[in-house]
Amino acid sequence: MMDGAFNVIGTSSWMTPELEGFRDAVRRFVDSEIVPNQERWRKQQHVDRALWNKGGEMGILCADIPEQYGGSGGNFAHQAIVFEELGYAGDMAFGIHVHAIVAHYILNQGTEAQKLKYLPKLASGEMVAAIAMSEPGAGSDLKGIRTTAVADADGYSVNGSKTFISNGYLADLIVVVVKTDTAAGAKGVSLLLLETKDNPGFRVGRILEKVGQKGQDTCEIFFDNARVPLDNVLGGVEGKGFAQLMTELPYERTILGVAGVAAIERALRLTVDYTRERKAFGQALLDMQNTRFVLAEVKTEATVARIFVDRCVEDTIAGKMDTVRASMAKYWISDLQCKVIDQCVQLFGGYGYMLEYPIAQMYVDARVQRIYGGANEIMKEIIARSL
Ligand SMILES: Cc1cc2nc3c(=O)[nH]c(=O)nc-3n(C[C@H](O)[C@H](O)[C@H](O)COP(=O)(O)OP(=O)(O)OC[C@H]3O[C@@H](n4cnc5c(N)ncnc54)[C@H](O)[C@@H]3O)c2cc1C
Repeated sequence: MMDGAFNVIGTSSWMTPELEGFRDAVRRFVDSEIVPNQERWRKQQHVDRALWNKGGEMGILCADIPEQYGGSGGNFAHQAIVFEELGYAGDMAFGIHVHAIVAHYILNQGTEAQKLKYLPKLASGEMVAAIAMSEPGAGSDLKGIRTTAVADADGYSVNGSKTFISNGYLADLIVVVVKTDTAAGAKGVSLLLLETKDNPGFRVGRILEKVGQKGQDTCEIFFDNARVPLDNVLGGVEGKGFAQLMTELPYERTILGVAGVAAIERALRLTVDYTRERKAFGQALLDMQNTRFVLAEVKTEATVARIFVDRCVEDTIAGKMDTVRASMAKYWISDLQCKVIDQCVQLFGGYGYMLEYPIAQMYVDARVQRIYGGANEIMKEIIARSL
């Protein structure tokens, strides 16, 4: 199947023949290793641990991390293709997005020793990564976090708890946002690289029962004198955490835009196919003017979103993507995604409300896109600061 089968403009501006080959390989991997297991993973609330090792062998876990650190040596186009193909298959279980985000924290903010120690393990799937910012009492307002890390001669003792942590159940390495100085405000925030194995003070709580994305292991996690070596402060210096978060969050938000456009394109394609086949009042739903107008609007919006996100991909490849535009991509595309999928559900009628229909699954999976990765209201605050 060609890229153009889903891509609303046929082929993205940043695609190349080499990338087409990579896309085909990723699509075969998704078709064979992910699609047949989706229902089972929803029931068990997490993917199989072995999927991470298979993803490592395929070279898709750290597609845009340099080879010297064990990555595949590609650029953001490779990583975007992975997110698109997961989106086209309707997968919301494989937490490769968060994993890639953590790899970028280490690549861009870590010391050389941290890069050499952790990136090869993330690329191979030997380690699964998570990032723990949100707490029961502080999500949007990260300065309000209460998890602390206190240093002694051998390392840090971490105390507190985090919630809504994607990959929380399977994670081997967690970037934990902590306060190393509770009196210093944003300058007292640090990011620690916490290994979960053989760390008795670390505990995973229950896998949370979510509205959608049920195959993703979103968890509460607890620290009761969990230990982190002194060398594992990201970047080697305390107090840089807030600045590191601000630097890396645009990558996460661009990814959400990329995944969101893939979902919009899939919803359009599914709905065109369905309404072409479904008959009512002696004609196909697609021949009715309302259906045609709704889907004409969706196709227009999908095209605008696709061209915008393609520019975001190009600029990310070139290292020119900025915080404001990443926030626009995250907020505008996730809002559009939810609106479009809701319109598509309407055109499916009662079947659109049945989870055995992919459009219904997309409906429940999409809603959180407007909340996580920074709530869309926070995105508008960031954009407004640039006015
Ligand atoms: C499925 C899922 C996966 C997640 N994965 C992770 C993860 O891996 N790691 C992690 O750290 N976190 C994760 N999160 C947490 C997510 O990032 C937070 O839920 C999000 O940042 C919002 O924080 P909150 O839930 O505390 O809401 P609050 O901060 O309590 O905000 C609630 C609402 O208030 C409004 N609001 C808040 N502040 C403002 C403002 N300044 N101006 C206007 N309106 C405002 C917004 O509408 C917002 O949605 C995940 C969440 C979910 C649901």
